Amino acid sequence: MTTTMIAAGEVWLVGAGPGDPDLLTRKAEKLLQAASVVFYDALVGPGVLALAAPAARLVSVGKRAGRHSKDQQSIDQLLVAAAMAGERVVRLKGGDPSVFGRAMEELTACREAGVRVQVCPGITAASAAAATLGTSLTLRGTARRLTCVTAHTRQGQVLELDWQALADPQATLAIYMGKAAAGEVARGLMTAGMAGDTPVALVENASLPTERRFRTRLDLLEMAARTALGDGPALLLVGEAMRAPLPVATILAPGQLVRSDSDPVQSRT
Ligand code: SAH
Repeated sequence: MTTTMIAAGEVWLVGAGPGDPDLLTRKAEKLLQAASVVFYDALVGPGVLALAAPAARLVSVGKRAGRHSKDQQSIDQLLVAAAMAGERVVRLKGGDPSVFGRAMEELTACREAGVRVQVCPGITAASAAAATLGTSLTLRGTARRLTCVTAHTRQGQVLELDWQALADPQATLAIYMGKAAAGEVARGLMTAGMAGDTPVALVENASLPTERRFRTRLDLLEMAARTALGDGPALLLVGEAMRAPLPVATILAPGQLVRSDSDPVQSRT
């Protein structure tokens, strides 16, 4: 029945969400069950892939920072070739396909080849991170703007971001792919006038059993990212909306990193 979700020769770019299979949309699950072939990113985990039809071919086209993988053009060509061979194609992407997901390249490649292509949105990492922190990305009167930015650069290149625009005390800054450049980000924002004690949250592997959450401040961000984070994908969230109500017993000394596991919001669960 679900195979009617995708016509033969059609491509769907599907958001896989942040990792927890329960955070997939119902539509994404139906599309996975209808696909004859699934091309998936490195960030898409086994829990989500297990939802594909048993007969579906699962093809990794993974991209992880610094590791060898297929280039974007080869991925585009794979999608087009599979569709032209009459497959029902799902291109499964971490989070939401339209957020730092190279979705446009794949949409364009399909359209130029005359292949019908559609998008199924997913939950982006920033939403999942805010949810697990028990906070809101926007706060009435305090965080009026949400800015999603990537701090990823090609090897050896300098991060060129508009620091003046980003150093907005009334915004929440969601920094994707920001682990390696955490120090540069902190220095850029502080040079542009952002206060060193601006709250920062770091969430690694949001929504997965391996998830870890930390809170720190902007002037300690580089140290925090280096010492606290592991290998998993991590999101950095900067701004007043990340100021956690701390338990009364916690003393926040300068230089002290407070694990958000000690948040009242976490201990209630
Ligand atoms: N399209 C994806 C983002 C792709 S860029 C989305 O909408 O979420 C990849 C970056 O996303 C990672 O480097 C990391 O910064 C972030 N990310 C993806 N999944 C994550 C997760 N489960 N926890 C924390 N950050 C995540």
